[in-house]
Amino acid sequence: MKRRSFLQSSALLAGATLMPQQAWLRNFLLPPAGNLTTIRRNISFYTERGGTIVTLLTPEHSVVVDTQFPDQAGNLLALMKETNAKPLDLLVNTHHHGDHTAGNIAFKGMVNTHVAHANSLANQERVAKERDQLAETLLPGTTYTDKWSQRVGDETVSLHYFGPGHTDGDSMVHFEEANVVHTGDLMFNRRFPYVDKTAGADIGNWIEVLRQARRTFDRDTFYVFGHSGEGYPVTGTSADLKAMAHFLKMSLRYVKKAKRRGDTLEQLLEKTTMIPGAPEYKGSGVERVLKAAWEEI
Ligand SMILES: [Zn+2]
Repeated sequence: MKRRSFLQSSALLAGATLMPQQAWLRNFLLPPAGNLTTIRRNISFYTERGGTIVTLLTPEHSVVVDTQFPDQAGNLLALMKETNAKPLDLLVNTHHHGDHTAGNIAFKGMVNTHVAHANSLANQERVAKERDQLAETLLPGTTYTDKWSQRVGDETVSLHYFGPGHTDGDSMVHFEEANVVHTGDLMFNRRFPYVDKTAGADIGNWIEVLRQARRTFDRDTFYVFGHSGEGYPVTGTSADLKAMAHFLKMSLRYVKKAKRRGDTLEQLLEKTTMIPGAPEYKGSGVERVLKAAWEEI
């Protein structure tokens, strides 16, 4: 056994005995499990488990958009410490879902400003109460309703709200100088999306949200998506937003036709594996879209 790996094993054993709960020690000793990929300037995206994270990292400043789960957030923190060990200037949650916010807790006491849309905060609080998890939850301390901006070093971070879509509290987060946008779960790249009707999702307006995003940002904008289908990237362009809007439109049209024909929801679920006119969206989960569209029409 090499000395380095022996030292790591010994320390790990001690750690396992003394502090089994402390993810940070494991993260300090072992290489992180996820990948931090540079996009433009000091902006990167991090993938491991859950919704994609975007970071801004310089020796003086740091911003984190979404946090996956506590272990994953711990792994990201271990990576960040190589560049920046100071408190975060800014922590952003694109929306309330656990695969984007459960890792917030790993940043407790380390964040200057923690921001989300007002509806996202309400949803985060409601879900935490329902699950009796308020004690393990780090909630945003700052909210906004239409648009919010903050200067961080030589970058401007702006949050845009275009109305309900995937939930009723989804922000698009624009790093203006780098021209990078984190879409949160307003984008599932070629994958059937979750449509959270329990939190005010609206497929009809979601199409409008994507249209407004394409109008607000430009052709050079680099987008990072919440999720993607197998074999598809979590990053892309305005053309991918257009494809997602088209998929949502085709889904509404398909369900509307079925209802007019007199089909029941059960019949529709039984026979549908993909949405006609949008074959790139495949895999599991078509029922999520069908049920939500059925409820909406
Ligand atoms: Zn989500």
